[in-house]
Amino acid sequence: MQRPSSRQYIDGILRGDHVVLAQAITLIESELPADASLAAEVLDTVLPHTGKGQRVGITGVPGAGKSTLIDTLGMHLVRDRRQKVAVLTVDPSSPISHGSILGDKTRMERLALEEDAFIRPSPARGHLGGVARRTRETMLLCEAAGYQNVLVETVGVGQSETAVRSMTDFFLLLTLAGAGDELQGIKRGIIEMIDGMAVNKADSGNEANAERTRMMFANALHLFPARPDGWSPQVTTISALTGKGVPELWETILRHRAQLEANGFFAQRRKLQALDWMRELISIGLEDIFRTDRDIAARLPKMESEVKEGRTSAFAAARELLAFFRNKNT
Ligand code: GDP
Repeated sequence: MQRPSSRQYIDGILRGDHVVLAQAITLIESELPADASLAAEVLDTVLPHTGKGQRVGITGVPGAGKSTLIDTLGMHLVRDRRQKVAVLTVDPSSPISHGSILGDKTRMERLALEEDAFIRPSPARGHLGGVARRTRETMLLCEAAGYQNVLVETVGVGQSETAVRSMTDFFLLLTLAGAGDELQGIKRGIIEMIDGMAVNKADSGNEANAERTRMMFANALHLFPARPDGWSPQVTTISALTGKGVPELWETILRHRAQLEANGFFAQRRKLQALDWMRELISIGLEDIFRTDRDIAARLPKMESEVKEGRTSAFAAARELLAFFRNKNT
């Protein structure tokens, strides 16, 4: 199949053609240097058509019900609200398992059949920086293609929550009712990042238990200092399976947006995210330049084995390589 021209990519995206959208995402995910300039051209051109979407990040341990929630919420958006929804994931490979956590099982079965839903799995797994960059760019392409809502799911490996928080307007933590030690199961620092929490599986006799957990989290959240944006993170109980509480959860997300748009913090969050993104791209770019430098590539393996064998310290090796690189380029 012949590859589309930049015009074809751009027109197709702006038309909302999901086949072209998928091809464009493949283009930005490409590792081939030859694709990079075409990808940049497509992104730059569609950029004025981006930014209007509601970007929601969703995190939670495996089994919390993320894909079930996204399926149910997505159906609510598509059917009841007549809006389009894109679902993206950030699933960097874990250094321990080297595998995907979200897995390749069929997820979001109902939503996958909807014309107005676009589901794209995580880009080829690898380091978080690269994965997150591509998810961000994919989000922009989806917005340009007319998706008013972008749901970004993450698995909470390493820094992936921070990455998703930094590309979304509302960051939701999905939890389960438990026996009282729930707070320990939640990674340190995550509570400060969230805009809302939902206790899932409040059904089949588990309602009271879920409500108790909700109260406990609500009380715990009260202990945190007031946020500059004036928003107090809400805790709700939901059943992703039956849909109970899911429309209300979306209402909360919309209320958050309205409140932050009114007080200026919505725009500010997006601006700070843009700034963070630029910095991130610079570091990714610098690392790329460094690693692909021929002289560095020639020296790196030897240095790495010296460090591994303890003949050189990590500090000395890094310092030496950086100094070499700096001298070479001045
Ligand atoms: P994920 O790993 O976070 O994406 O979790 P899944 O969405 O795959 O859900 C894990 C399991 O919990 C599945 O067997 C779901 O059917 C089940 N599940 C998800 N949401 C609910 C819910 O609201 N109620 C009940 N009873 N089960 C649920």
